[in-house]
Amino acid sequence: MSLMRLAYASEATFEAKPVEKGVEPHVARILMTSRRNNARGKLMGGLYYGNNHFFQYLEGEEDEVRKTYERILKDERHRNIVTLIEEPLAERTFTNWSMKYVPLSRDVQRLLESQGLQYFEPASFTSAQCEDMIELIRNSSHDQKLVNHDDTQTMRDAPQAFSPGLKAGLIAAALCLLGALFFAGSML
Ligand code: FAD
Repeated sequence: MSLMRLAYASEATFEAKPVEKGVEPHVARILMTSRRNNARGKLMGGLYYGNNHFFQYLEGEEDEVRKTYERILKDERHRNIVTLIEEPLAERTFTNWSMKYVPLSRDVQRLLESQGLQYFEPASFTSAQCEDMIELIRNSSHDQKLVNHDDTQTMRDAPQAFSPGLKAGLIAAALCLLGALFFAGSML
């Protein structure tokens, strides 16, 4: 059985909706399906969505990669699909994720700046820029972080230990207790 790797760029056809839990809702649905299918097919890789464009990298058994790519090519959620890399692979380079979502916008921004690029338009990436993008995805997956949030988002989305209502209730209860103690103390 032979391994292969594939990267492509495309343009989203949907209008981006406000981000929910760190991910654009259309992209979240794509990720859900991809994670399920890719885990089954032992496909690894990553998906980056920014500036209404996608960059995806896939590696795995050749027939699985090709079957998946055929489905992806037919998907109406994107268009102008440009294959950037399609070649044999000696050994797997990803280990952790069946489909990594990479909203590392700061890292990608840094990458674009270092290349003198203003916008994320992966269809016009050189092969070196593709490799840099893949490296970025690979590094984030090696960290084993499920980065579904931008850094700024992470703080906003972090689960709160107490809801605002519960907090107010606890403060009121503490004040009542203090009042009762004070009253009891004054009676002695
Ligand atoms: P289903 O179970 O048939 O569908 C899953 C969900 O996706 C359903 O809710 C369905 O309504 C919705 N859906 C499917 N197709 C469309 C569509 N054309 N328009 C709107 N909603 C739709 N699939 C992978 O398996 N692996 C990948 O790595 C992968 N990467 C993708 C990257 C991009 C940028 C895009 C746009 C799609 C990607 N997909 C990927 C999805 C792929 O194109 C197929 O939709 C999917 O593989 C179908 O698999 P399924 O038959 O198991 O899904």
